[in-house]
Amino acid sequence: MSGDVASPPSPAPKVYLIDDELDILQILRDVVELSGLEVHCFSQADAFMKEIQCFEGNNILILDLQMPKTDGIEVIRHLAKTENPPDLILISGQDSAVLSGAENLAVAHSLVVLGTLEKPLSITRLRSLLEPQAVIRGRRLRGNIKSTADDYSAQELREALDLDQFCLHYQPKEELVLSGTSKYSAECLVRWRHPTQGIIYPDRFIALIERQGWMPDLTSIVLQQAIGQQHQWQEEGLQINLSINISASDITSLTLPEHISRLLADNALDTTEITLEVTESELMGELTTSLDVLTRLRLKGVRLSIDDFGTGYSSLLQLFRMPFSELKIDQSFVSKMVVDLEALAIVKACILLGEQFQMRVVAEGVEDQATKELLQELGCQAVQGYFIAKPMAAEQLRPWLALQLAS
Ligand code: C2E
Ligand code: MG
Ligand code: MG
Repeated sequence: MSGDVASPPSPAPKVYLIDDELDILQILRDVVELSGLEVHCFSQADAFMKEIQCFEGNNILILDLQMPKTDGIEVIRHLAKTENPPDLILISGQDSAVLSGAENLAVAHSLVVLGTLEKPLSITRLRSLLEPQAVIRGRRLRGNIKSTADDYSAQELREALDLDQFCLHYQPKEELVLSGTSKYSAECLVRWRHPTQGIIYPDRFIALIERQGWMPDLTSIVLQQAIGQQHQWQEEGLQINLSINISASDITSLTLPEHISRLLADNALDTTEITLEVTESELMGELTTSLDVLTRLRLKGVRLSIDDFGTGYSSLLQLFRMPFSELKIDQSFVSKMVVDLEALAIVKACILLGEQFQMRVVAEGVEDQATKELLQELGCQAVQGYFIAKPMAAEQLRPWLALQLAS
């Protein structure tokens, strides 16, 4: 079985351009054409909305927000009502708050924003947004948005649980500040080995499992596999800390701490060798019960991490009264911190909070060297993301680690 694979190739996207400044429109057209993509230009939003009534296939719209007649926000509102809307690249000559506001509005309308550009334009950034990788990521995002409606039936998922069709992939995390421990750890990410469709990612089935009340079943499978694998690696001489994702319903199950310590003991592992990740947005549900469970897990030595930190709007006071030892900055901030001052400010604030509360700070969604270097400079302890490695099957992790340690 192989690791996470790229989406299957699909036709190159068609690109629409709307900008009232003709010289900018010409520059944009040249860049898009040089990227080898088909391009259609409009100097007025009205003409675009009148002419293009429906979209087929994959499309991208590069949209200037500030235009004299119909502005970009009106176009966003119009697109929200159309079938198969294009992915957006937003442009503005005003301050970055305008771009962020428009981006949030588009996302609230379930549109995909591939990126934003401030004027004067950075040609390099525009080209990188048009690269196939960025476009595929947008397509995956779009898949997530659509999959709020269920892709699979409850019966299919019940069968998958009963027939043991779930497996784990492992994504390495790299320590930037070495403190005597090993340089790498890994996060366990569940995948469904669908009998006919291949590997299915969690965003297409986790929500339904949660709604059906079957999360304890999935978590039990995940814990068993992760800890069993960790035991096997330990037998082979590889000691690696594993992070395991658990959900809101797990942390309200009062027997979870015992279940985990028994599993670890049965596999001759110490409680300090796993970290449990709980998504920030799920933490505040049943505060009293989850505090009980989390505190007992911590007392037993299990490390706890707040996942997707910065997206949950939870009260900082309540959050930092919980017994967490790590916070993972959400990838939506990390992935654009090099080009977006607001994202950078949030990342810096998270690192500072971590320092103040003696928590380890991990950044996820690190996709390039510049981001990794900046995080290192800012004092972030560990990084995870495609730049380090994509999630991979268990049998690929050891060779990967050997290669890193040899180089
Ligand atoms: P998460 O725990 O925040 O995991 C990180 C997600 O980001 C993973 O997606 C990972 O493949 C992806 N990722 C990592 N590096 C990069 C990067 O550089 N760029 C981009 N664009 N993405 C990156 P995945 O595996 O699809 O998992 C999605 C979410 O599903 C996880 O988010 C987690 O909340 C949930 N999940 C995964 N496995 C489990 C599980 O065993 N149990 C539970 N309850 N939830 C799980
Ligand atoms: Mg996680
Ligand atoms: Mg996360």
